[in-house]
Amino acid sequence: MLQVQNVEKYYGNRNNVTKALDRISFEVQDGEFIAIMGASGSGKTTLLNCISTIDSPSAGNILLNGENIAELPPKELARFRREKLGFVFQDFNLLDTLTLEENIGLALTINHADPGTVQSRVRKVAGQLGIGEVLEKFPYQVSGGQKQRAACARAMVAGQSMILADEPTGALDSKASKNLLEIMTSMNREMGATILMVTHDAYSASYASRVLFLKDGRLFNELIRGERTRPVIYHEILDVLALLGGDVSDVI
Ligand code: ADP
Ligand code: MG
Repeated sequence: MLQVQNVEKYYGNRNNVTKALDRISFEVQDGEFIAIMGASGSGKTTLLNCISTIDSPSAGNILLNGENIAELPPKELARFRREKLGFVFQDFNLLDTLTLEENIGLALTINHADPGTVQSRVRKVAGQLGIGEVLEKFPYQVSGGQKQRAACARAMVAGQSMILADEPTGALDSKASKNLLEIMTSMNREMGATILMVTHDAYSASYASRVLFLKDGRLFNELIRGERTRPVIYHEILDVLALLGGDVSDVI
């Protein structure tokens, strides 16, 4: 479980302060698929960076499984990030000179995991994501969808239970976005990953089980999908975005 408690984040100095996050509190249960929405500048990336320990809050606490991540010493923090968190990047960040198998297992290899263990973990997660047959290929030899799957496999290969993604569909066309969102759905439903996905796109957010809305660094609203179908929640998301005001045309 993730607990975000009264988190504040300020940037700048005494003369020029930006309040990026303003007393944000929420909890995420294991197995949820959360979308974080809001206009540009509303604090989405800052929030995700605080959770992923890339940045640290100015005030408040973030606990993962009861552990206060701000209090971890640097070595523990690095280990925490490596073992517990998986990242899905906008451009996938696959290395061209490595095969998919090597790309997926890279973090484990760098950390001196036993080669047999690396191989079995890579094959297991690649099989679950439907790319078991193309592991010996290089990124330029596979389809865009297979590259997405490889990037997702890499995010989960060390047994990470929390997947963080900042605008993962931001650079994709609608077909590629749909593919990625379906892969993320199966990571969530079939592989048990808890997902936190930042997006300014209502269509992407409609795949989540819960949508949090940020406005000016504050938690403005939330929508829980429940039993509603994706098209129904999609329209409800648009309604909340209209309420949010501001640059709505930008967020839709
Ligand atoms: P979003 O991801 O929703 O577009 P951000 O979290 O990137 O929003 O930014 C929230 C606010 O914090 C914005 O006003 C932004 O200008 C400011 N901000 C973000 N990062 C920094 C930084 N490193 N230094 C100063 N201000 C920042
Ligand atoms: Mg951002």
